[in-house]
Amino acid sequence: MGAILVRRNILVFVLDQLSARALDIYGGQFHMDNISALAADGVTVSDCYTTYPLCQPARASLWTGMHSHRNRVWSNGRQCPITPIDESFPALGDSFSAAGYETRHFGKKHDGGALRGFVSSEEKEKKIPDENPAFPFNMDTYADAYTMDEVLSYLDGRDDERPLLMVVDLINPHNICGWIGVNKGKHEDVPIDGELPELPPNFYFDDILSRPLPVQYLCCSHVRQGQTSEWNEDNFRHYLAAYRYYLSIADRQIGQVLDAYRKAGLMDDSLIVFTSDHGDNITARRSVTKQVTLYEEVTRVPLILSGPAVKAKGRKAEGLASLLDLFPTLLSAASIEQDPRLDGVDISAVLDGGELPERKYITSEWYTEWGYTISPGRMIRSGNIKYMRYLEGDGEELYDLEADPYEKRNLAGDESYHDTLERMRDLLSEYIRESDDPFFSLSVKADKRWRSHKPGYENHRGPTAPEV
Ligand code: ZN
Repeated sequence: MGAILVRRNILVFVLDQLSARALDIYGGQFHMDNISALAADGVTVSDCYTTYPLCQPARASLWTGMHSHRNRVWSNGRQCPITPIDESFPALGDSFSAAGYETRHFGKKHDGGALRGFVSSEEKEKKIPDENPAFPFNMDTYADAYTMDEVLSYLDGRDDERPLLMVVDLINPHNICGWIGVNKGKHEDVPIDGELPELPPNFYFDDILSRPLPVQYLCCSHVRQGQTSEWNEDNFRHYLAAYRYYLSIADRQIGQVLDAYRKAGLMDDSLIVFTSDHGDNITARRSVTKQVTLYEEVTRVPLILSGPAVKAKGRKAEGLASLLDLFPTLLSAASIEQDPRLDGVDISAVLDGGELPERKYITSEWYTEWGYTISPGRMIRSGNIKYMRYLEGDGEELYDLEADPYEKRNLAGDESYHDTLERMRDLLSEYIRESDDPFFSLSVKADKRWRSHKPGYENHRGPTAPEV
């Protein structure tokens, strides 16, 4: 008996800058109705990591299924321009359109050319009025408002017999980046209704001298971090309130898309995917947004597989996964032949109640945002041990996530962890060999003036590298 080809519809939600740790379904403090409903109707992957905690590289990896050092989209551009995705590299849109799918993408691209094979909507803005004086909207929310119009009008009028792969790429909670600019430096917060969110257990940070140089001086390479150097505790709690608010805008829109998708008769045995390109520091170590560091808040992203295609509902699949896994998993869920060039792993067994495949390790990487400072770094996690290596100053970090989930104490200099450190160094070397990673031959770029003040993000004053 031949296998039955399942050509189910697939709907993928990608948010921008959502840390898994922010959500209550991952033990965080923010509850979102529609995201929680997706989790209840599906399987939540416990430890999914982005390939690179920055928009363009993460997205290029997502759509090509390749590590950033392999597809060469390893910055956001400017002083470090990228090479657009090579025609010979895999592309999710190509694979699905070749298999007879209609492939539609709505919203944020920032993909380095990796969305090849999708019909994409335009990236435009629709000005909408603020709904809360404490949380002004900016171009990010305006872009999502435009995207929503496009999505809803498309779903309302869809007339196509083919199975559908549809991506809804919303920018929120990324509006938080511009919110920092509005609230930079010493300031009085606009009061909000209700309780302010709590600061996380790792807001206080007394271990900065043990961290690699680019982490110690994150405030000097990152405009948004520099803008918070004079913030007090309440200012950081307002940051969390704003983050929760912008996330709730996206959550509401997810509910609207799902309603329209259902009304359009597309739900059948659909697979609904929910994820984000990378996380946000959510005030861990007094830090905001993302850059340079490879801590849990910025590298670990939500991954929910949901909808009628998921047979075992409301459970968590425990184990390691990567955004790289999405491409092979979607191929499998649509009965499309696997592509041997992909770096990820097919985790579709979890749809039927199976476990995540065992893997020796998971990785993430950093190079630069805009090229003003360049701080090559690698993260590798095996079991509960996480190791980071930065080229500048030969910086190393080692954490036991079971004992220290908030990465408060760097164990790299601790004699009693010597064997563990050696094992993780070897594992990183093994990965670098196996994935043709040029890491150890990359160059560092960091002017001395960005490594000069007393360490501590609160000690930063004046401009940051991108501002001079
Ligand atoms: Zn600084």
